[in-house]
Amino acid sequence: MIEIKDVKKAYRMGEQTLEILKGVSLTIEDGEYVAIMGPSGSGKSTLMNILGLLDVPTSGSYNLNGTEVSKMNEDELSEVRRGEIGFIFQQFNLLPRLSAVENVSLPLLYSKRFEGQARAEKLLSSVGLTERGHHRPNELSGGQQQRVAISRSLINSPKMILADEPTGNLDSHSQTEIMKILQQLNDSGITIVIVTHEEEVAESAHRLIRIRDGKIQSDERRPRPASVATGLGSLHEKPLSILPSSWWQDIWDYFRQGFKTLAANKVRTGLSMLGILIGVAAVVTMLALGTGAQKAIEEQLSSLGSNLLTIRPGSVRVGGVTQESGAANRLLLEDIPIISARDKNVARIAGVINGRAQVRSATNNWNTRVTGASSSWAPMHASVPEVGRFFTEEEDRKRSLVVVIGETVRRELFGDRTGIGEMVKINRINFQVVGILPSKGASSFGDQDDVMLIPLETAMKRLLGKTNLDILEIEVDKPENIEASMERITDILTDQHKIPMSQKSEAFQIRNMADIQQAMQQSSQTMSLLLAAIATISLLVGGIGIMNIMLVSVTERTREIGLRKALGAKRKDILSQFLSESLVVSVVGGLFGIFLGWLLTLILSLAIGWTTYVSLSSVLVSFLFSALIGIVFGVYPARKAALLNPIDALRYD
Ligand code: ADP
Ligand code: MG
Repeated sequence: MIEIKDVKKAYRMGEQTLEILKGVSLTIEDGEYVAIMGPSGSGKSTLMNILGLLDVPTSGSYNLNGTEVSKMNEDELSEVRRGEIGFIFQQFNLLPRLSAVENVSLPLLYSKRFEGQARAEKLLSSVGLTERGHHRPNELSGGQQQRVAISRSLINSPKMILADEPTGNLDSHSQTEIMKILQQLNDSGITIVIVTHEEEVAESAHRLIRIRDGKIQSDERRPRPASVATGLGSLHEKPLSILPSSWWQDIWDYFRQGFKTLAANKVRTGLSMLGILIGVAAVVTMLALGTGAQKAIEEQLSSLGSNLLTIRPGSVRVGGVTQESGAANRLLLEDIPIISARDKNVARIAGVINGRAQVRSATNNWNTRVTGASSSWAPMHASVPEVGRFFTEEEDRKRSLVVVIGETVRRELFGDRTGIGEMVKINRINFQVVGILPSKGASSFGDQDDVMLIPLETAMKRLLGKTNLDILEIEVDKPENIEASMERITDILTDQHKIPMSQKSEAFQIRNMADIQQAMQQSSQTMSLLLAAIATISLLVGGIGIMNIMLVSVTERTREIGLRKALGAKRKDILSQFLSESLVVSVVGGLFGIFLGWLLTLILSLAIGWTTYVSLSSVLVSFLFSALIGIVFGVYPARKAALLNPIDALRYD
């Protein structure tokens, strides 16, 4: 039973207050069939929306079935709308993407789970739409659409149906059909309130209320017409079995809906996914490169003795001007015997110079790095050849024309052969290949096997024409002697090169492995961080893209949101619906992104030969991150949708 007392409704329009309902009191008993008539703008729809709990009065009381409605919160109102009231609108308000059956079952999404499909089909066939269940609204006539809407209003077995000009958009034949259905529903015990402009529509009601300027003008009762023979008795039956709804069922339902909505808008969905996809792919690739570089460094360093020192020329000041490697601090061949003679802790010492050269076998041609080194270089770098041999100290002294080649050089020059004993021309000089270096693999620093080694003196005097060394490498006998040796060698060198005391610390750069390791790791870490930051920014931009699209989608679907709320959706239902949509976008985008990232990594490692490493944790992190982005950037639009006022949303154009 409906009981309203002195209900007023006013709208503020800027400065003015517009009073639309000016104190309406009305009682409607269960089972009545009431028609409301009145000129346009008199407040009929406003009254209906208040009766249907879609809108709240400015003042006055509304008692529905013994409960004072003004004390209910929004979610409680949703529940009453869902369980007790069926709405029929002038514009039908069917969701265009859903079939007739799905439209009819829509309210079940927000109530306990019934055997919805079967009941929806039954309702459709009882309004004469047996064959039309799988058609979409745009494939149905106006009359058929309104019959779908009536079926939808009946799915939760309401006590009352509110119809606001249900025949306003229909031809007279359809109008007759709809009126017949409403009559039959009333005969089966449902209260009906209908707003109409047509006298003949009002005819079938047995109570007619006329409204003018927000007030009830007349309220007359008529004899109840004879019951129409009803084939619709079954419409008002009790709902089918109630299944317990579980949270995973709910989540699954939301996601299925989300997929469906997104699939209906493929281009837009694809574009908003693209941002996340690129972001995640970037994260995965960057992490793989970073980890790969780290691993390469570790491998490279572990192949070197940990007691290794390197010495490079530093900077000296000549006449107040700082110079990189002035004449005084050039490393010379003569420094080698002096250092090993004067520091007893030096186990091995090697001079190194680097250059590039063109090398030619009988058939092939290759440009590569050429390193001139002392014979002690091989054991110091764990690079004693397994095939062939390294050159000897004597060969170095005699400036012999022998070369030890890396695996890449061997492949390029000799294909399947080892090449040992064969002659090659390096910058037009004949060398004999005596050994092949053990393979060290490739990393983002380059291919470690794309190198040739020749004796140091051969390199200096016969091939590269250099008079000083690039690097001096020293292996100290024991780790505990490293510090002392570093100092002693500095002393020897500054003494030998007559460096003034004031410049002692800058003239030569002397580093131990721990320093080098730290420096390399630091630079690779900085690099990884930088890359990760760039990748994160692109993910963030992707997230903003999602938010953008979701906001557009909320605006576009304002009416749909209003309808869903009218049908009983609570705030949390709408929130979950939009959140699951943005989650689907970001998670699917994320999955594709991981795949793309993995593919990129694979291409990089195959084509360029970089060491890369896709770890499970990096994949998980980027996946969770993309899901997080979906939630974070989806919350704002979803909240915006959830907080919409049902009647404002329904009226939105
Ligand atoms: P009708 O009797 O034709 O259904 P309505 O109840 O829809 O009339 O509207 C009555 C009056 O209230 C109209 O003049 C309309 O412009 C005004 N009105 C309705 N909703 C609003 C609103 N949200 N803000 C301001 N005015 C409104
Ligand atoms: Mg109206």
